Order: sequence, then structure tokens, then C-alpha cells
Amino acid sequence: MLFVISGPSGVGKTTITHALLDTFDAVFSVSVTTRECTKVEKQGEDYRFVTEAEFVQMRDSGRLLEHAHVFDHYYGTPRQPVEEAMAAGKLVILEIDVQGAIQIRESRPDAFMIFILPPTEEALLARLRDRSREPEEVIQRRFREATSEMKLARESGAYDVYVVNDDLDKAIEAVCKAVGDEMGRRQRDASD
Ligand code: 5GP
Repeated sequence: MLFVISGPSGVGKTTITHALLDTFDAVFSVSVTTRECTKVEKQGEDYRFVTEAEFVQMRDSGRLLEHAHVFDHYYGTPRQPVEEAMAAGKLVILEIDVQGAIQIRESRPDAFMIFILPPTEEALLARLRDRSREPEEVIQRRFREATSEMKLARESGAYDVYVVNDDLDKAIEAVCKAVGDEMGRRQRDASD
């Protein structure tokens, strides 16, 4: 099953993704990006960090399943590892933005997609500030982009389930349950 998880930055989707990887025999799709690697990230694990020329080459030769321009950088999902893991019957997790999720919805209508929401916009702003990775003007910009991402997610109708992350443990439980239920449903349908 192809599983997509999205949500604005600061909403907790990376933590939820790690919990999914601990719970299921799943494969995380390592995206390519032109943004810089931060001190806590590892090349090839969190992302494959590439130059813009490499990204364009991959995109134009059809080697990306989807791609998007987010916060001034390019991001994309390499096609081959996803197709190989799916052929091996694995659950494949894509942590991508709404623009990418809309493309996946078109090319893979049977993908299962969850969008993580903050309890309120104020709570999201507070979380972005708490992380304090960036100066206030960057936080404000991320907040504006998060608000429009949530609006686009709703309007696109691309997502199957919306989970509000009010309490992280409960949000993890809700996402794991939704994924487990969906896999069970598909297995039953396949054996009917
Ligand atoms: P960050 O730079 O904070 O890791 O990610 C910024 C945004 O890009 C997040 O919303 C993240 O989900 C999204 N993103 C990461 N990888 C991909 C990808 O391969 N494709 C798309 N469309 N979005 C991605």
C-alpha cells in the first residue's frame, strides 16, 4: 500500500512517521531535495541532498513520482525505490506536501492519504516558535504557508483522513489505527 502523510511544518508528522515505521513493516521513501542538509540530518537517510542540476535531470527524465517547490527549494520522490518496495508487497510511506499528494492522488488513485492538522492556528504558531529553529520573520512566513497548505488540503479533497494532533500519543494511535484498518480492509477485499 502506498501511504502519504502530510501536514504543515511543526505539526508533528515526522514523529508520527517514525512511530509508523516502528509499528509496521514499512519502507520510508527518502526524498531528493535541493535544500541544505541541517546538522541533525544525514545524507541518504532523511533526504538525498542534491544540486539543482541533478534534481532537474531526475525530474526531466521521469525518475520522480511527484515533485514540488516548497519554501524556495525543490523536493521529489524517486520513482524506482517506491515501485520496487511496492512490488515486494511493502507498506511505503511518503512524507510529502499537498502539491505532491495531489499528483499522487492522480497517478495512484488507490494511495491512502492522511493529513495532520494542528488543534488551532494559534497552537501551530506557538509550536513553530517553540522549535525556534528560525528567526521570527521566517516563522511568520512558515505560518502563512502552513495556513494556505491546510486550505489547499481541504479544498483538494485528496486526503482520506484528517487527524488533529492535539495530543501526540493520541495522534500516533489514530494514524496507526487508520493505516492498520485500511491494510486489513484491502487484505480482506483481495481474498474475497
Ligand atoms: P522540510 O524541508 O521541512 O524537511 O520539508 C518541507 C516540506 O516539504 C514538508 O511539508 C515536507 O513534507 C515536504 N516534502 C519533503 N519531501 C518531499 C517530496 O519528496 N515531495 C514533496 N512534494 N514534498 C516533500
